[in-house]
Amino acid sequence: MGDKQPVYILPENVSRMIGRDAQRNNIMAARLVAETVKTTLGPRGMDKMLVDSIGDITVTNDGVTILEEMQIEHPAAKMMVEIAKTQEAEVGDGTTTAVVLAGELLKNAEKLLDQDVHPTVIVKGYRLAAEQAIKILNEIAIHIEKDDRDLLEKIAITAMTGKGSESAKDLLAKLVVDALIQVSEEGIDSIKLEKKKGKSISETELIKGIVLDKERVHSDMPKKIEDAKIALLDCALEIKSPETDTKVNISAPEQLQAFLDQEEKMLKSMVEKVKKSGANVVICQKGIDDVAQYYLAKSKILAVRRVKKSDMEKLSKATAGKIISNLNELNEEDLGKARIVEEIKEGKDAEGMLYIRDCPNPKALTILIRGGTEHVVDEVERAIKDGLGDVAAVLKDQKIVAGGGAIEIALARKIREFAQGMKGREQLAIEEFALAIESIPKILAENSGLDPIDIITELKAKHDAGHQYTGIDVENHGVGNTFEAGIIEPLKIKTQAITSASEVANLILRIDDIIASGKSEPRMPSGMQGMSGYE
Ligand code: ADP
Ligand code: MG
Repeated sequence: MGDKQPVYILPENVSRMIGRDAQRNNIMAARLVAETVKTTLGPRGMDKMLVDSIGDITVTNDGVTILEEMQIEHPAAKMMVEIAKTQEAEVGDGTTTAVVLAGELLKNAEKLLDQDVHPTVIVKGYRLAAEQAIKILNEIAIHIEKDDRDLLEKIAITAMTGKGSESAKDLLAKLVVDALIQVSEEGIDSIKLEKKKGKSISETELIKGIVLDKERVHSDMPKKIEDAKIALLDCALEIKSPETDTKVNISAPEQLQAFLDQEEKMLKSMVEKVKKSGANVVICQKGIDDVAQYYLAKSKILAVRRVKKSDMEKLSKATAGKIISNLNELNEEDLGKARIVEEIKEGKDAEGMLYIRDCPNPKALTILIRGGTEHVVDEVERAIKDGLGDVAAVLKDQKIVAGGGAIEIALARKIREFAQGMKGREQLAIEEFALAIESIPKILAENSGLDPIDIITELKAKHDAGHQYTGIDVENHGVGNTFEAGIIEPLKIKTQAITSASEVANLILRIDDIIASGKSEPRMPSGMQGMSGYE
């Protein structure tokens, strides 16, 4: 860069880059993002260690986590991060695939740009290819029954492979499938992931209820309640509001006493209302006054306070209780049910946690994640999220594909056939699109220590001979029928990745002018500073 002087038709602090320079700059930045996550793809992918400004460390293999922590600033690079976020939101897995694909599409587009193919032609070719790809994928996809536990567990295992949970992947896959089958129509948002370090991953468990990172508010309250009847309150068991506080005007000691008596009476009556409903557990989203705590404890009611709104909603689903905003409206039929509510402390100095468990037919659940260290439980959580995302996606559209690059080889093959029927330079773009798709098995091979060229050649030969489920079986170190090997993914991962990768690649290709204002230095957006390879 720097061989062309910017033309100053704009204020001095606005910098501008046009034409090929702009394209090159954007493509470079976007590709760097893809290069960064590329080595993490697949079960033998490497991990990244991310250290933030205050020294906190994250060790992960998860595409979206890496990109979010990187604090990327370059505008085109940020668009790549958006792909990962969209993929995460839509499927919950496949983030690396989506970003790598966009990077490859841009890399191949650059080849065409160098051959003077106009960007609009590339964009058109890519768009046609992407549309065709979605059609082809839907044709190749395999139907699965919603109660096919065996396949569902394989999908969860494929999602979690290589994510630091290897030792317990069968157990975790079972928990993931159990959880989703139990909450089915309520979906993935009703599954709470709670982490607890200590013990091993294999002690991760599914709790038919909710686990809260909370202790009871008063030590005289019971630690354990059986046949719990739970009042879910989003009103405070307090009376003071800032205004009344300041308005109270007390001039004599007896007035103060009267005031305190009055307050105590009101709090006591609040507790009476709770008691009258038959509740023996109170879970409160707001505060609970000391006096109310005392009376609750006296009535042998277990209470916790300041519970998150999202947890209140899950509790409502798990226990079938109704969240009440006005104590006067609290009735017995509003109470949630659980066979056991119990505060458990593991170890003397550990923080207690409240288990609301064995709810009858719960529509919300908790997976309590265990692992030796914080880094381990964090990575297991990300693995479980991928598993949940994939199984949920499959339960929705009931369509799966063979992983380990099998689907990509099959798809690239069909896209090339499609390209044959096209004329002119768009054909070139469609062929480059097919090549980009093929980069997924190529990188999988590379990351597994296999020779990518040999492997791709072998895979293509197998597919030409009609074996459309042949892919890379990393565990068995070679080429094989990945569907039979249980390497199975949701169709949705692939369609979503292709859609967002090609959209973003096209968006970036269409830009031929970067006007950056507000920065004092006369350089181009430089958010990738500190990343090697740029400038
Ligand atoms: P992403 O963020 O895109 O999900 P991953 O690191 O999870 O990236 O890797 C996903 C890729 O790994 C998919 O292409 C999937 O088919 C492949 N894969 C998963 N398990 C295996 C396996 N046992 N052998 C070969 N490939 C696998
Ligand atoms: Mg994955």
